[in-house]
Amino acid sequence: MLGGGPYHAEPCPLCGETLWNGRCENPDCEYHWNPKEDEEDRHDGT
Ligand SMILES: [Zn+2]
Repeated sequence: MLGGGPYHAEPCPLCGETLWNGRCENPDCEYHWNPKEDEEDRHDGT
């Protein structure tokens, strides 16, 4: 699995725009200002 960029994009559940690492690209959307935490994308276990 190569080419996995640092950004994880997914459709915003609120407005349908794109979420980048939990932050919506739509400035009118709540997730633009309060990014959605994506627990499953955090691998902090060292
Ligand atoms: Zn949104």
